Amino acid sequence: MTDLPTSPLPSRRRRALVALRRWFDTASSDPAAELSDEIDWLRVLPFLALHLACLGVFWVGVSPVALAVAAGLYALRMFAITGFYHRYFSHKAFRTSRPVQFLFALIGATSVQRGPLWWAAHHRNHHRHSDTEADLHSPVTRSLGWAHMGWFLTPRGFATDWDAIRDLARYPELRWIDRFDTLIPIGLAVGLYALGAWLERSHPELGTDGPQMLVWGFFVSTVVLFHATVTINSLAHRYGSRRFPTRDNSRNNLWLALLTFGEGWHNNHHHYPGSARQGFYWWEVDLTYYGLRLLAMLGLIRDLKPVPANLRRGGRGGPP
Ligand SMILES: [Zn+2]
Ligand SMILES: [Zn+2]
Repeated sequence: MTDLPTSPLPSRRRRALVALRRWFDTASSDPAAELSDEIDWLRVLPFLALHLACLGVFWVGVSPVALAVAAGLYALRMFAITGFYHRYFSHKAFRTSRPVQFLFALIGATSVQRGPLWWAAHHRNHHRHSDTEADLHSPVTRSLGWAHMGWFLTPRGFATDWDAIRDLARYPELRWIDRFDTLIPIGLAVGLYALGAWLERSHPELGTDGPQMLVWGFFVSTVVLFHATVTINSLAHRYGSRRFPTRDNSRNNLWLALLTFGEGWHNNHHHYPGSARQGFYWWEVDLTYYGLRLLAMLGLIRDLKPVPANLRRGGRGGPP
C-alpha cells in the first residue's frame, strides 16, 4: 500500500478554512498570520452580519416588551463588561468567588466582545502602551475609525497575549469561555427566539414573537452595546476634559460616562486604573460603581479598591 501524496491546500483555501473554524473555535489559530494588521474579511463576516441583521426591525415590527428586553439586556451586559471584563478581570479592582466570576464572565461573553481573557489581555496592553505606536487602538496614532472598530478585525487584534493574563488563564472555565466565544451569544439568541415564540402563544396581547424578540433583544441590543463600549477606545481618547496630566490622551466625558455606565471618566481611570470607582466625586455619575456597591452589600463581591485621597489631589475640577 502506498501513501497518498500529501499536497498542501492552496494557501487561500487553507486561510478560508482556518477563518471558518475560528468562527466557532478560537483555538483553531494560524500562528503564521498572527502579526498581520490586514483586516481578515472572511473571519469578520459574522460581525458584519450582526449589523445587517438589525435591518430586520423593518420586517418584525416592535412591541413594548421587545424594547424592554433589548434595554434590559443592554444594561445587564454593559454592567458585566464594565464591572467585570474591565474593572475586575482587567484591573482586579475587587475580589469575588469563583462562581460569581464565572457567571459574569458568561454574561459578558453574550455581548459578542469575545471572552474575558482576550478582552483583559488587550486592555492591559492598552494601559501599558496607551496612545503610543504599540497601542492597538489609539485614535492618536491611528484614525478614530480604526480605534473604534478596525483593530480587532485583524489577525493581530484577534490574537490573545497569554503572558498578559497568566493570573486569569489558570481557570479552565474562563479558558473554555474564551475558546468557544461565539457559541455563548448564539445560545442567548436561541433563548430569545424561544422566549418570543412562547410569549406569542401564552400572551398574544403583548404583540411579540420569536423573530421580533431575536432582532430587538439580540441584534439591536448587542450592536448598540458594542458601539457604546468601544466609544471608550475611540472618543474617550479624543473628546472631553483632562483633569490629570496622564501620559496618554484620555479624557473625562459625561455623555460617554452616561452611555457606558461610568467608563467615560476615562482620564480619571488612566490616572488610577486600580480603583473600582471611575467617577472620583459624587457628581461624576458612575452606574457601574453603584451596581458594584450593591453586589458588595449582597455579599457577592468584596474588597472594592477605593481611590486614594492623595491620588485625587493635583487634578483640575475637583474640590479644593
Ligand atoms: Zn484608555
Ligand atoms: Zn482600564
